[in-house]
Amino acid sequence: MTLRPVKQTIPALETSDGAGVRIKRSIGQQQTIRMDPFLMLDEFGSDQPQDYIAGFPSHPHRGFETVTYMIEGHMLHEDHLGNRGNLKNGGVQWMTAGRGIVHSEMPQQESGRMRGFQLWLNLPAAEKMKPAGYRDLQPEDIPGFEVDGARLKLIAGEVTLGGVKMAGAVTGGSTQPLYIDLHLEPEGALSLPVEAALNAMLYLYEGNATLRHDEQAQPLAVATASILGDGDEIRVEAGPEGARLLLIAGRPINEPIVQYGPFVMNTRGEIEQTLKDFRDGRLTA
Ligand code: FE
Repeated sequence: MTLRPVKQTIPALETSDGAGVRIKRSIGQQQTIRMDPFLMLDEFGSDQPQDYIAGFPSHPHRGFETVTYMIEGHMLHEDHLGNRGNLKNGGVQWMTAGRGIVHSEMPQQESGRMRGFQLWLNLPAAEKMKPAGYRDLQPEDIPGFEVDGARLKLIAGEVTLGGVKMAGAVTGGSTQPLYIDLHLEPEGALSLPVEAALNAMLYLYEGNATLRHDEQAQPLAVATASILGDGDEIRVEAGPEGARLLLIAGRPINEPIVQYGPFVMNTRGEIEQTLKDFRDGRLTA
């Protein structure tokens, strides 16, 4: 097996979105900074209510999926289909915007800490106009695995660990998304196969860790998308504080992307049609 190196780093930038929620955006901070099939990764984390309390009032999407992973906190999702979902500590919301969804994501807490991630996963042309869908995954729906020195929460995809194949809460999909929250103990290490055909990145969000490549240990920067190069395995080694990081991988779609805010299509013409549909109330019809 060949260990994947860090090929590019994208430090997250502080910005705000929705009605004024403070976030750190790594991929997606510019439309040229992406990792196919992923469009955007936002980290939110604050114990100051003014950083999150305004939430994300009603807004539309078309052409992709959003995956929200709440580490700590409580948000309520509501959409035009009538779905209501409580997203709490350790839960995940997997929303397929498809041809169109209008939803809101509002904090259900007035104090305390809110912490988590929102990932945007693109859909190929053939699936952009499929019906909208929504899945609410409670913490107990997300398989967790423990190995020596590490714990994994397998949100999406399949991984082989110690010769045993493990399945995440969400599997399949044309881009085979792999989404794992890795917790390493102090000085803990973990090797994982990550299929060579998948684009992959690591996002260290707490602690310190290095990525092993040949004789080198490449340091992973915190709050930074570390895009990985060729190979079919990763080995992460934590420092004295331990580490928490996301492993995100997927099969590239390799299609043109035209994004206009919350709409992600293949051509300008499709974006114009989407804006027209939204104006005419046909996004969700
Ligand atoms: Fe949204």
